[in-house]
Amino acid sequence: MEYNYHGIILRQRKIGETDRLYTLYTLEAGKFVVVGKGVRRMTSKNAPHLEDFMLSHIAIVRGRGPGAIKSAVAEYDFCALRTHVDALQCAYRTRNLFDRLIDDSEHDQKIFLLYLTYLRLLDHYAFSGGERETMTLLTESFLVKLYQLLGYHFAFGRCALCVRVFVTTDRIFFSAASGGLLCASCTRSVGDAVMLSQNAVKILRLIPQYSLKNLVKIRAANTDIQMLRSCNTHIAGWIMR
Ligand SMILES: [Zn+2]
Repeated sequence: MEYNYHGIILRQRKIGETDRLYTLYTLEAGKFVVVGKGVRRMTSKNAPHLEDFMLSHIAIVRGRGPGAIKSAVAEYDFCALRTHVDALQCAYRTRNLFDRLIDDSEHDQKIFLLYLTYLRLLDHYAFSGGERETMTLLTESFLVKLYQLLGYHFAFGRCALCVRVFVTTDRIFFSAASGGLLCASCTRSVGDAVMLSQNAVKILRLIPQYSLKNLVKIRAANTDIQMLRSCNTHIAGWIMR
């Protein structure tokens, strides 16, 4: 039987003499692995349409075991993203977390569309000479939205433990295990927490309300963006513990 998918190429690795094993995230069936037979031959017509991060229309023949790619045609080749050092670093960070956080065949069109929107914006900023900070803010905003779609909701209002309202002079921390933001006093009883600036907290509160396209317009200092990055790495570590 032959099936058609719109799939983003997450990973690929060599197998056998001339083949590759591809990990796809598809609109129709979520994440799965498929074999590309003969794609390492110079004459392969499918190989140029199966590079990392491409969105391709892929026909797969299924029998026993993983399916085999019959044909692939790139819909978005994300050429700018794939040749821009900063954009690639961002794309590999999200790809590595995405691949580890999403289970095989976990199927969610909202996650597919969020990931595709993220890659298209990253490609746009790579093409138009966007700054590294903008791409990093886009990347960290994408990850916060991804965690929410995966069902991880954290309290970004009051202290998650003593429910005290924060004031502008407060030192604020984040602990995924405690469920969100913490005041300095509550943080002492928690083993693992990351410190956030007041601005980083403001951005975290804005992310659920705004689209990725609008979030990258926020004026943010690099130190605030790096705090968001630490926070997201902390959350990913907690989810995969
Ligand atoms: Zn507290």
